[in-house]
Amino acid sequence: MQIKRLRLTGFKSFVEPTELRIEPGLTGVVGPNGCGKSNLLEAIRWVMGESSAKSMRGGGMEDVIFAGTSSRPARDFAEVALHCDTEGALVAGLSDAADGDDLEVIRRIERGAGSAYRANGRDVRAKDVALIFADAATGAHSPALVSQGKIANVIAAKPTDRRAMLEEAAGIAGLHVRRKDAEQK
Ligand code: ATP
Ligand code: MG
Repeated sequence: MQIKRLRLTGFKSFVEPTELRIEPGLTGVVGPNGCGKSNLLEAIRWVMGESSAKSMRGGGMEDVIFAGTSSRPARDFAEVALHCDTEGALVAGLSDAADGDDLEVIRRIERGAGSAYRANGRDVRAKDVALIFADAATGAHSPALVSQGKIANVIAAKPTDRRAMLEEAAGIAGLHVRRKDAEQK
């Protein structure tokens, strides 16, 4: 799976709609402290289903919405759209909505109304989105997304947590979600 485009609207410091194209090869994001580099990585994790406000460096999930500055009012919603090329990979959580190899997942949160997901124009559940990315060996908790301070966490991790990281990397994390699902039925 290859990320091709990322679009942010009202997400953290990205108050105006901002679109980034990610070309094949290495992409670097440079800028002074506090300009929003980490916010970009958090946007990718968030649209992939991150449910922990703490790991988004916030007190609550609505903290991802632009909070306003002395010259700009706060916004009522935040939206992140992630456009990927699935490279023919099976998009299991979305079999009948997948349009060729292209996948666009959008997550939107509104103040007081929680967040909702769309995948290729169709309403989907958080669980569907988590499965899509877990099967592609990426996703909110994937070791492919390394946040600031994360290296130290890996070194200090308990064996069970380290195993979870390896399972994410191997692309089998989705199997646990399905097993839990099957056990509940
Ligand atoms: P560093 O080089 O120090 O790691 P960075 O480029 O990674 O910096 P970020 O941590 O991504 O910077 O950005 C932090 C900025 O985002 C801060 O200026 C903070 O005020 C702003 N910010 C975070 N959440 C919000 C929000 N909800 N509304 C408005 N601004 C926000
Ligand atoms: Mg940073």
